[in-house]
Order: sequence, then structure tokens, then C-alpha cells
Amino acid sequence: MIADDAAGGAAGASGARVLFLDQTGALGGGELALRDVVAPYRRGRVLLFADGPFRQLLERDGTAVEVIAGSVGDLRRVRRESGPVAGLAAGPELLRLARQVSVRAATNDLLYANSQKALLVGALASVRSRTPLVWHLHDILGPDHFSAANVRLAVTVANAACRRVIADSAATARAFVAAGGRADRVRVVHYGFAPPGPVGADAAAADRLAVRAELGVDRGAFVATHVGRLSPWKGQDVFLRALARVPAATGLIVGEALFGEHEVEPELRSLARRLGVEDRVVFTGFRTDPGRIMAASDLVVHSSTAPEPFGRVVVEAMLAGTPVVAAAAGGPREIVDHGRTGWLVEPGDPAALADRIEHRRRHPAEARSLAAAAAADACRRFTLDAMHDGIGRVIDEALGGRRAAGAAEVAPAAVTRAAALPVAPLADADADADDDSDDAPRRPDRA
Ligand code: UDP
Repeated sequence: MIADDAAGGAAGASGARVLFLDQTGALGGGELALRDVVAPYRRGRVLLFADGPFRQLLERDGTAVEVIAGSVGDLRRVRRESGPVAGLAAGPELLRLARQVSVRAATNDLLYANSQKALLVGALASVRSRTPLVWHLHDILGPDHFSAANVRLAVTVANAACRRVIADSAATARAFVAAGGRADRVRVVHYGFAPPGPVGADAAAADRLAVRAELGVDRGAFVATHVGRLSPWKGQDVFLRALARVPAATGLIVGEALFGEHEVEPELRSLARRLGVEDRVVFTGFRTDPGRIMAASDLVVHSSTAPEPFGRVVVEAMLAGTPVVAAAAGGPREIVDHGRTGWLVEPGDPAALADRIEHRRRHPAEARSLAAAAAADACRRFTLDAMHDGIGRVIDEALGGRRAAGAAEVAPAAVTRAAALPVAPLADADADADDDSDDAPRRPDRA
């Protein structure tokens, strides 16, 4: 809930007319996050470059959303690993989109790019329409995830065109700066989540049985669950290899391939067969109720092999009251306090993961107390209010401190605190925070 209070960041910014840009209609983590980000912006609007279930979800929420028709051609071919040739081939499409965005930007105060292609389009539209641009960065810009050309392009454009870059974790922010991004413009804001509604113990137990029955899992089985899109770096293969070492565990793999990686599921099924675990692994496909499945599980497993930018599923597991084991790289290291609110294991190590799954199985009392501590921690640290406040402050900054009364408080450290981030803010960002005259708004007032 957003307080309508002039001292609050979100309240100050939520009066702004923000045009949110996203390249996809699919339901990735960045899109699910955007769904929550837009909520306070009653005068805001989401512009998608492709149609899909994300549009339907936004419409169901009552969010104003528009799909720019026929914009799915060349951009679809530009993937994370693409080099300059694919990027150049998409040039005409980017320009066409930018023209459409800049027409719409004329009636907005700010452009908010929620993905990398949205950044490119938003940058062109920002220059054309003289509308400030903010980029919400949900990716670790580095060789594990992107080609060097892709990283260089994104960082160059961000430095040239963005008033602010919102990073979803300190790990994401550090990678942006290491790749050459301007430290004085990046702010860390963790995602916020709706707390779980009150559910009585009987109802929770009944739902647990209902979920298990629906998925064909024995009511008494020990269930370890992996939630996330099917993608090589998400490490479902590591999970399967770990399961092969824990014969007493049943595995759920929740999610589907997004963004064209359709070969991944058949490969994982074939690996499950080769490992001899196919009889105790269920592929559920994409679920709209991942929290329910987590709550019906004994352990949630996150096993990304490359650093996870944030790791929404880790917080969702904590909120579901289920113990979580996560790969110790990137965002999860900011979320999980090893041994107190979850467990961390080396990424890409099936033996270590198997040990942890077995440990969880053998120590139910420890798991219960850890899950309780995790739920309390997540409820306190990852709130929608903190996220809205943090993002509101960044938007205020990008608009040139329009919220004059609160402007003095606005600094990277303040934004970081707003998101209850337990790590030090970027030292460079802090040092440069006051020397920001270069960022004064250049956009004239419009009638
Ligand atoms: N998710 C979902 N249904 C599924 C699989 C995943 O709703 O079947 C959600 C999941 O609950 C989480 C998001 O997709 O909110 C994934 O976000 P995360 O940060 O874990 O990974 P990303 O996809 O952004 O890399």
C-alpha cells in the first residue's frame, strides 16, 4: 500500500506521468517485477513491443497497457548473445519503435525502460522527445550472460542517455559499473513482494495435499522444488544431478522456456531419463501459482550456474515459509544469510546441492526454524512499500528533484537503505552523489 504522503518517495513520484517500456509480452521475472512497480503510477502506462500473457496480466490489474503493433520482427532475432551484426540488422526496427515511443512520450514526464531493447528504443525516443530516461536493469552485464558487444552497447547507451539506472541488486550494480557504467547514476533497489495472506494451519495443510494430488506426488513424499524459467544457466540440470544422489527425494521443476529456448525442456527430460530419475521428477510447466507449489514443498532449490541478478524465487520461497537453498553468487548472497534464513551452496556443484537436500531431509526441526526466520526476514526486508519508495526517489532524482522537500535525503545510500539492503552501497556512487550538476534536467516544461 502506498501512503499518499509528500515525504514518501513513491508518493512524490506517483503523480508523475511515466511511460514504462518493455520488449516482451512473456512473463519473465523483470516483467513480474514491473507489474508491481507500476502499481502506484495511476497516470502511468505500459508500452510493450510484443503481445503476450504479460499484457493480459496488466490488463487484469487495471493497468493501462498498449502493444505497439507489428513490432516483433527483427527485435526477436536479437538475443542476449547476439553480436553487432544482429544488432545492426535490428536498427530499422528500433528506429521505427523509437518514433512510435517518442510520439507517446510527448504526453509523459519520464520514460522508464524495463529491458535492454527497451533501453535502446527508449534512448532514441528520449533524445527525440527530450524526455528523461530511467533504465531498470534486471541483468548482470557480464560475459556469463551477454556478448561483449551487447554489454558495450548497453553501457554506452545507458551512460549517454539515462538520468538514472536502477539495479535490482548490488551485484547487478557492481557488474554495471565494472562494465564501464556510470557509478554516480546507478541506484540499488531490491524488489518488493506482497506478503502472504493469512492462512490457517488447517487450510495450509489441505492446500499442500491438494497441490500434491494435482501434481501426482505422494502426500508424504519429500519434495524439492526448482522454480524458474527453463534455461541452461538456471541450472535445472544441476538440480537433476543432485536429485540422482538423493534417492528419497521427489523433484518438481516449475517453469517453461521463455525467449526462444525451446530445446531446453526436451534436453532436461532426456537428462532425467539418463540419470534414472524420471519417475520421481515432475515437470509442471509454467504455473501462475508458484507460491502455492513452494508452500507444498519441503525445500525450494535455486541452482543457477551463473550469478543471478536478484533471484525473485529465493524471496518467494522465504515468504512461502519453505526452506530455500540457493547458489551463492549474485543477488541470492544479498538475500540469504547462510544458516539463518536459508542455505547457500557453490553454484554448479550437484554434490554440494545433494548434501544440502539430504541435510534438509534429515533435520526437519532445523528446517522449520530456519524457514520461520526466513519468512520474518523477507516480510521485513522485501516489502512493496520499500521498493516503491526506493524507485519513487530515483524517479524524483531523474526528474530533477521535483520533490524539493525530500531532495536532500536522496542519495544512493538512502535508496539502498529504503530497500533494506544489507551490503555497502557502491563507494563511487556515494562519493559522486553530490556532484550531480551534470544531470540537471534539460527538458523544457511542456504545456
Ligand atoms: N515464475 C512463475 N511461474 C513459473 C516459473 C516462474 O510465476 O512457472 C516466476 C517466479 O515465481 C519469479 C519469476 O518467475 O517471480 C522469475 O524471477 P527470477 O528473478 O527468479 O528469475 P528471472 O526469470 O527474472 O531470471
